Amino acid sequence: QGGSIGIDIGGTKIAVGVLVGEELHEFRSHPTPETGWASVLDAVAALVLPLLERFPETDAVGVGIPGPISQDRQRVLFAPNIYGFTDVPVVQGLRERLGVNVSVENDAKAAALAESGLGAAQGSSSSVYITVSTGIGSGIVLNGRLWRGFHGVAGELGHVVSVPGGPVSGAGQAGTLEAVASGTAIARDASYALNREVSTAEAFALAQSGDRIASRVVQGAMTRIGLAIADLQKMLDPEVFVIGGGVASVGPYFFEHVQAAANEAAEGFARPQIRPALLGSQAGVIGAALSALIDRAG
Ligand code: BGC
Repeated sequence: QGGSIGIDIGGTKIAVGVLVGEELHEFRSHPTPETGWASVLDAVAALVLPLLERFPETDAVGVGIPGPISQDRQRVLFAPNIYGFTDVPVVQGLRERLGVNVSVENDAKAAALAESGLGAAQGSSSSVYITVSTGIGSGIVLNGRLWRGFHGVAGELGHVVSVPGGPVSGAGQAGTLEAVASGTAIARDASYALNREVSTAEAFALAQSGDRIASRVVQGAMTRIGLAIADLQKMLDPEVFVIGGGVASVGPYFFEHVQAAANEAAEGFARPQIRPALLGSQAGVIGAALSALIDRAG
């Protein structure tokens, strides 16, 4: 078996690796250039060309992008958290640079495939993977298959309105889940409330050590995520929810709070089964590689 190359383009870094069977090899990353999409694709090529040389038997190449993908899966419509990433012809741009065909998938949908195939939702035929990081996104797996929706934008959970009239997100909409509960939103609100520059990780550390101002900010965000999960439980009723991304890596404090908020809001329907992601920072790369294999198999 030749394996499949996965590429995960994120707001801060680009990660790549080669999936052979269930094992990821050559996992490495590079900071995401902030000078527009052409330089991002150039940086991808610099990481992937040596892999293609070293693994000449590679069967497929897939890339995950943090934004909605066009219905024909040729272009990225926009990526709210990467500078200059609007209406990008990713398939064409990477074919020109790599000389091979590339499958494009949304980052959260790719990670959903990875967690459902090899991670925390393995063995469940329906699951929703949610990433809480710079942005918020999700991927829905129904009957063992990724649900992209009619136009391809299913699972854009970060852009669902959570607090009408609330703060505006990078995508320009007011009060969306991403605008009130992402890592970016938590750092912004904690910095404002504490009157000094605070990172998302610091906000959580302060909250856990009993700081009341920081607690109010992070608990507000975790409650919003729990409420969104309760809505999804009622709408889709999946067997399992998996949460990954930098904010979820805070651990039990995060999961206990989100679970409690979700339970309360879904009371009387079904108790949401929420699990931490298992594949960590490799989920996007593994998922992009899997997505390319699935496309290739037709
Ligand atoms: C994008 C999603 C993406 C998520 C996480 C959101 O802003 O719209 O497509 O999955 O961020 O990166």
